Amino acid sequence: MATAYPLPRRQTRAVTVGRLTLGGGAPVSVQSMTKTPTVDVDATVAQIHRLEEAGCDLVRLAVPDTASAQALGAIKRRIGIPLAADIHFNHQLALIALEQGVDKLRLNPGNLKRPEHVRAVAEAAKARGVPIRIGMNNGSIDPAQRAQFPFTPAGNAEALVAGALGHIALLEDVGFTDIVVSLKASDVRTTVLAYRLMAAQRDYPLHVGVTEAGLPPEGLIKSALGIGTLLGEGISDTLRVSLTADPVEEVVAGWELLRALELRSGGIVLTACPTCARCDVDFDPIIRAVKARLADLDRRLRAGGRTLHVAVMGCEVNGPGEARDADVGVASGKHTGMLFRHGVEIARVPEAEIVDALVREVEALADAGA
Ligand code: SF4
Repeated sequence: MATAYPLPRRQTRAVTVGRLTLGGGAPVSVQSMTKTPTVDVDATVAQIHRLEEAGCDLVRLAVPDTASAQALGAIKRRIGIPLAADIHFNHQLALIALEQGVDKLRLNPGNLKRPEHVRAVAEAAKARGVPIRIGMNNGSIDPAQRAQFPFTPAGNAEALVAGALGHIALLEDVGFTDIVVSLKASDVRTTVLAYRLMAAQRDYPLHVGVTEAGLPPEGLIKSALGIGTLLGEGISDTLRVSLTADPVEEVVAGWELLRALELRSGGIVLTACPTCARCDVDFDPIIRAVKARLADLDRRLRAGGRTLHVAVMGCEVNGPGEARDADVGVASGKHTGMLFRHGVEIARVPEAEIVDALVREVEALADAGA
């Protein structure tokens, strides 16, 4: 018997990050990380604006030195989305980041080891109402802790969770509970096992992702498997698709993952056939033109949380069925297109007019519902 999929979201406590809520039933949010030098304020702000436009909910910046920490305030004043500072090794950088007004800290327990330093940061964050993500990473687990577990995906997962639980205890010791947890590994099996293990034990919101997933398409596939598996089990409050690519691609991928499971709505969901020998139109330029010409509308609809389904199909085998099921669809025939709106055929157009006719119809439908 079929059951619900994805499974209901795991109940987690709500953590506030600037204007954003993580956990507590809030929509799963999409994060990314800038790839510019943080000290280059103009370049970093420009990249964040591109991320905002793509639908990024929260941006994280690496803070490798004091100059980077001191640049955070100037960056924050020029952006709209909450800003998280990524801190390793030096707790003083976290204290400066807090003074600069960041909305969230990410600390890596594998390389911020001294309990008194962690407590000092927790006290300062608590005073400002700033949450902390405990960001465990398979590449930087404390070697002594790692040696306590078998060198298998299950052992790696246990080591990640043990490290995070130790850090959670340090923060809870000083009454700090505005905590988000991540347990990232560069392999999918460890990642999934670690998050499952943590989800069964604590109710802090989880930031999920497969770390260092690599270049697209490999990185996309690993991320879709790891994050997708967890989303399907209701385990995820916020996510980052980590790619060796323009960070905008990370945001686009995050959104597509959430839209594929209908965990976030908004924008244009495009169905397109892969084409085959039955296709009687020059399909590739058609689908690329449709996507490009609907890009602005996609952004506007996403911001408004409204979804339109658009289908572009290459022939009459599955075409009419898919085109009828979409809000607006086209099923191509011999150098022609049958245009459907809400399941009803409304026109037949020559191949050269398919793109114009389809885009016009989608825009009209969007305007009608605006
Ligand atoms: S819709 Fe037609 S052209 Fe497209 S893949 Fe299916 S059979 Fe081939």
